[in-house]
Amino acid sequence: MKKNIDWSNLGFGYIQTDYRYVSNFKNGAWDEGQLTTDANVVISECAGVLQYAQTCFEGLKAYETDDGHIVCFRPDLNAERMVSSAERLEMPVFSKERFIDAVHQVVAANADFVPPYGTGATLYIRPYMFGSSAVIGVKPAEEYQFRIFCTPVGPYFKGGVKPLTIRVSDFDRAAPHGTGHIKAGLNYAMSLHAIVDAHHQGFDENMYLDPGTRTKVEETGGANFIFVTKDNTVVTPKSGSILPSITRRSLIYVAEHYLGLKVEEREVEFSEVKDFAECGLCGTAAVISPVGKIVDHGNEICLPAGMEKMGPVTQKLYDTLTGIQMGRIEAPEGWIHVIK
Ligand SMILES: *Cc1c(COP(=O)(O)O)cnc(C)c1O
Repeated sequence: MKKNIDWSNLGFGYIQTDYRYVSNFKNGAWDEGQLTTDANVVISECAGVLQYAQTCFEGLKAYETDDGHIVCFRPDLNAERMVSSAERLEMPVFSKERFIDAVHQVVAANADFVPPYGTGATLYIRPYMFGSSAVIGVKPAEEYQFRIFCTPVGPYFKGGVKPLTIRVSDFDRAAPHGTGHIKAGLNYAMSLHAIVDAHHQGFDENMYLDPGTRTKVEETGGANFIFVTKDNTVVTPKSGSILPSITRRSLIYVAEHYLGLKVEEREVEFSEVKDFAECGLCGTAAVISPVGKIVDHGNEICLPAGMEKMGPVTQKLYDTLTGIQMGRIEAPEGWIHVIK
């Protein structure tokens, strides 16, 4: 039976669920892993994650479809991305097959926390891994823990979508040849000051430019950009320091194969942003958040789509991808994993 939760009024916060998955890496191998009801992590005060931030994570969602199944969206891509994060941070790889199996186990065990279809809420799934053994000289830990918990979250935009106002940040998110392309906790730690400052100044998000030249658009702290030109071409920035968003890659596919739009993945100069018709931020949490205004040190760029609603192409992309996710539109092979 579903838990007694006010699904339609959920926020985006942590609610403890019944089960989580844990596997430990010790003596060079992962153990078999298991579900547990213990929501606490006990590790050495000197653990690698606590001293040198050796940790990476993932984020994906499970939800109920219109025909009553519980599904999740492209967990294989999260598994692959976590492999590259682990490799870059000198952590042991948790295999793709085991990652997907663990996601299925956690969601199935917490099925009563999956929000009912139509509420707009979803079950957010958080896989992560960290160095758990003591490290004082700078080197990788010898022991690691891989965990997945999940928590029900509300619709990202309560009471309808509101286009965002963002600013061009004076802080950088990722160094050239650094860790911008992996989902490392450290990328978020260093973005916190920039986002708190943006909020103080009345902005919703930061637009980060490439740190090398400060002329090209990269992404925000947690979402990739897509732009739409005045002749309906979908443009998305390409850079070695952008996190490869699964939502963005899925939207690009939808644009090309479902909507017949032209797509360009290329370097995007900040100077061309003023000529775009629409702008959106894409990530698992909101799928697409429309951007209405971009402020560059007092200089305002107002997107023609305006501050009231999503632009028409953004809306079509959003409707098609969420339709695929919720089972109303046929999905490409392998995108939807049925859990139960
Ligand atoms: C997670 C993340 C995204 C969004 O990726 P999705 O796979 O679409 O959720 C975008 N940018 C950054 C920096 C991220 O960490």
